[in-house]
Amino acid sequence: MHKLPITNELGFYEIKMASVGGFGANLAGKILAEAGILHMGFNGANFSSYGSEKKGSAVAAFVRFCAPDIEVRVNAPVTEPHMLVIFIEAIAKNPGMLTGVSENTTVILNTSKSVDEARDFLEFPCGTLVVTDAMKIAVEEKTRVNTALLGTLAAASGFISPDAVKGAIKDALGKKYAFLIEPNLRTFDRGAKEYESKKFEFDGKYPIQKFNPHGQKLGYLNQPLGGIIPSAGTSLAKDLTASRAGHIPVLDLSRCTSCGECDITCPDYCFVWAEEENKKGKLAQTLKSINYRYCKGCLRCVRICKFDALTEHVEYEVNPEVIEKGYVNSLEEVK
Ligand code: SF4
Ligand code: SF4
Repeated sequence: MHKLPITNELGFYEIKMASVGGFGANLAGKILAEAGILHMGFNGANFSSYGSEKKGSAVAAFVRFCAPDIEVRVNAPVTEPHMLVIFIEAIAKNPGMLTGVSENTTVILNTSKSVDEARDFLEFPCGTLVVTDAMKIAVEEKTRVNTALLGTLAAASGFISPDAVKGAIKDALGKKYAFLIEPNLRTFDRGAKEYESKKFEFDGKYPIQKFNPHGQKLGYLNQPLGGIIPSAGTSLAKDLTASRAGHIPVLDLSRCTSCGECDITCPDYCFVWAEEENKKGKLAQTLKSINYRYCKGCLRCVRICKFDALTEHVEYEVNPEVIEKGYVNSLEEVK
């Protein structure tokens, strides 16, 4: 019989996964709930909240576990999680991300930062902080970050059985996606090993953001116009950086003929053009760069370009200056 290490006053161990569409948080929540309820003997519940877009908008998956003799009569979002998993660094500093985090919480962050760097980046007040470079694992294994983070979650939780989660991963992928089972189990195992964890006592360096059941600080009097959240993964900034799953196109201007095929293929109007004199001395539209702020990394442009002027690269291996300016004059400049 498996036991929960800690529960709230209603008897639940509560997990929240914060993400944006496209990283598999919804599926991770389902897999975790199945592992706990079908394979480990807990009672519990799982649901997710997300918008109508397939990629890029905010997603939160919630999982609750309790003893089998407790009835699940709560279906509200988790507000004071025992485990908070932040799927991508780009949303880690969104308002309210650490609300409800206490010394009893384990926060898992997908980042290449060390645990001490991540503490200052997140302004993490107290609790256990776990860092894992799930994006790197997923890129190397050609999978998604969700199974790497499930591996870290199982290992860091101290009570979630890795075998139960692996069984649920196999069930979720089933016969239809059988070819994805092995790489995802490898991703899970790497996530369970490749992480760093540190417990921080409250030292006053960063304030605890308590959840207020009677209302949060942001209300109708002081919230941004329209109730939007002006940060990554939302519509105001139109910044799709958070949607990319580790790969980006790079534009090599030395090969580009300004044929325009990429521009009519790109769903997000990422290509920047200017009217310039061409080789024949005539004014013509000329491709200048990619604006990565709008690029969600779908790589359709790479597939359509007949001149190899667009090539696929692992984002964290690309020189940040290239992402800043949006083009290279030769592929040697990429790294
Ligand atoms: S499809 Fe290729 S060659 Fe044509 S404009 Fe785009 S990058 Fe240039
Ligand atoms: S990968 Fe290419 S087609 Fe896709 S959003 Fe980025 S620039 Fe546009």
